[in-house]
Amino acid sequence: MKITLKPLHIFLLLLCAIALILLFTKFLTKEAATPKGIDSEATPDEEEYQAQRYAMAERARQQFDLKNTDVLRAVQTIPRHLFVPENLRDLAYSDAALPIGFGQTISAPYMAAWMTEELELQPGERVLEIGTGSGYQAAVLAELGYVEVYSVEIIPELAERAATILDELGYQGLHLRQSDGYFGWEEFAPFDAIIVTAAPDHLPAPLVQQLAEGGRMLIPIGPTGSYQTMWKFRKDGGQIKAYNLGGVVFVPLVSAGEPQPLKIPTPD
Ligand code: SAH
Repeated sequence: MKITLKPLHIFLLLLCAIALILLFTKFLTKEAATPKGIDSEATPDEEEYQAQRYAMAERARQQFDLKNTDVLRAVQTIPRHLFVPENLRDLAYSDAALPIGFGQTISAPYMAAWMTEELELQPGERVLEIGTGSGYQAAVLAELGYVEVYSVEIIPELAERAATILDELGYQGLHLRQSDGYFGWEEFAPFDAIIVTAAPDHLPAPLVQQLAEGGRMLIPIGPTGSYQTMWKFRKDGGQIKAYNLGGVVFVPLVSAGEPQPLKIPTPD
């Protein structure tokens, strides 16, 4: 029997072939896209983290009336999820302090942003942080790009871990060391700004001594296990002026520093 293919038949055959190819491709790509046992909604990728970071910075701006665009840009840029334990990464961009081991916490992001803004940092200034912890606050300071950052941490493991992550992220100009920050960092004093991220129950005298003329210090002071007051001190003409910025909660500053009565100059 002779089969003659008319143009219509050829067209129909081609159509069938295309339909079959499309069907197979769809089937194959579907198989490849969702291998068994893998949750397609796993860890958010970098783009999602970025979106969460922007939302977090926006909340910080609105709720704390933050105005310093350099600080907000820093918070938008720094991958905070890399400063928290792996099992807490999904919470990295929430407005919360998170545990980082050794009974310590990484401060809430808005707290780091707010304290940084309150330091009123100017280009070329030298800033000392007491309590490196995760290294996040040090990264916020370094990310500004125009200040020299010094940071001390008393727990050796945390100091080492922070140094590693900061180095990996390219913040190489930081000066870090493991020591008791109650005594500041005499060698590089005076500092134009000092930020203390653990709470003593009195104002450490060495930190006041190491504050430069015109310098600002942000420090939570109060009893352990309770609320503290965030104080902003300013050294003006050799005098210390104090400003009460309100109630906060920080982990205690543990120190060999001599316990002294709480002496705070009268607020303006
Ligand atoms: N700034 C940190 C928050 C750290 S929590 C961050 O961004 O993650 C407070 C830190 O202060 C803890 O790591 C704690 O170990 C440290 N610390 C407590 N007492 C200290 C002291 N006397 N000297 C230096 N660091 C101290």
